[in-house]
Amino acid sequence: MPVPVSQMWTVASYVLRQKLAGRKQYPLVLMLEPLFRCNLACAGCGKIQYPAHILKKDLTPEECFRAVEECGAPMVSIPGGEPLMHPQIGEIIEGLVARKKYIYLCTNALLLKEKIDLFKPSKYLTFSVHLDGQREEHDLAVCREGGYDIAVDAVREALKRGFRVTTNTTLFDGANPKSVRAFFDEMMELGVEGMMLSPGYSYDKAPDQKHFLGRAKTRRMFRAILSNRKKEWQFNLSPLFLEFLMGKRTYPCTPWGMPTYNIFGWQKPCYLLQDGYAETFAELLATTEWSNYGTESGNPACANCMVHSGYEASAVNATFSSLGGFLATVKGTLFPAYRDDEALRMLEEPQAAVHPLVQIAPTTESAEALQETRA
Ligand code: SF4
Repeated sequence: MPVPVSQMWTVASYVLRQKLAGRKQYPLVLMLEPLFRCNLACAGCGKIQYPAHILKKDLTPEECFRAVEECGAPMVSIPGGEPLMHPQIGEIIEGLVARKKYIYLCTNALLLKEKIDLFKPSKYLTFSVHLDGQREEHDLAVCREGGYDIAVDAVREALKRGFRVTTNTTLFDGANPKSVRAFFDEMMELGVEGMMLSPGYSYDKAPDQKHFLGRAKTRRMFRAILSNRKKEWQFNLSPLFLEFLMGKRTYPCTPWGMPTYNIFGWQKPCYLLQDGYAETFAELLATTEWSNYGTESGNPACANCMVHSGYEASAVNATFSSLGGFLATVKGTLFPAYRDDEALRMLEEPQAAVHPLVQIAPTTESAEALQETRA
């Protein structure tokens, strides 16, 4: 089942209105982080290393609604931390649905079956389940044996109850393109609406610093994965962003397209970096030195970045900026095969064995918080 027409229309008409109004910097997706604590401690995560007093904090529903209204983006992505650990997540989602925002609630799904009665199926709500590949690869990435089976079981339950479900997958150096393609088959057979992909960002706070991808490696890996596509595969991403990952296009980063709001305020400049905070969205736009960011800026923190939160809004903007961009999007949607013999050959290259799973316990603070949430 593809993205509902009502969502496509809402997004397209919103972007066209921004263009007609002559706005150069406009938000497409609000990244709303209502908390940082999590019930996992993934090796590639840079979000859960805060001290205990920060991990215990939550945005209130009112703070969430104020940010959503201030920003005005038609879509809201709720990452974290693990949003299902927020004690008022049901209230937050209900308020966003009432505001007719298309919500992607990003979850590792460990608590999804337990909490699912907090939510009602709606075209506005999608569970975006974090799955980083097939069973072995996912459990390795999230440092939790059995994590894949719990998540897949929760996906089945959510689909059975009529919820929209997508997957979100972060790929690191050493990902096996053949296995990733087999994972796409598994997810489509499971019945998810679509899949989201992003290369991992090299957080300097993440425990595993060895497996982040440089730009050349990223393009090569995504070329192998996304060329010669099966017609069954559905992606909840702009076709031009997928072409960007495959190395067929270049875009500047447009971090204002997916601004981040969390307990500290509006984060400068993006979801990944923390170069200060603004109190309002208008202040974020006005006071961030945007020219200091993006690959072309020479900022070393941006040098290898190709992540979804920096570049998908750029790709969507390109669709609506020229007839060529629009036609390329239509072509990528209708004819997504991308035949490429060299990419087929790349699939046969020997791959490094998956390194053994290191089970990392959640931080004491997160574990305590999980107990509190369950109590
Ligand atoms: S290139 Fe990446 S790290 Fe740099 S501003 Fe853009 S999204 Fe943030």
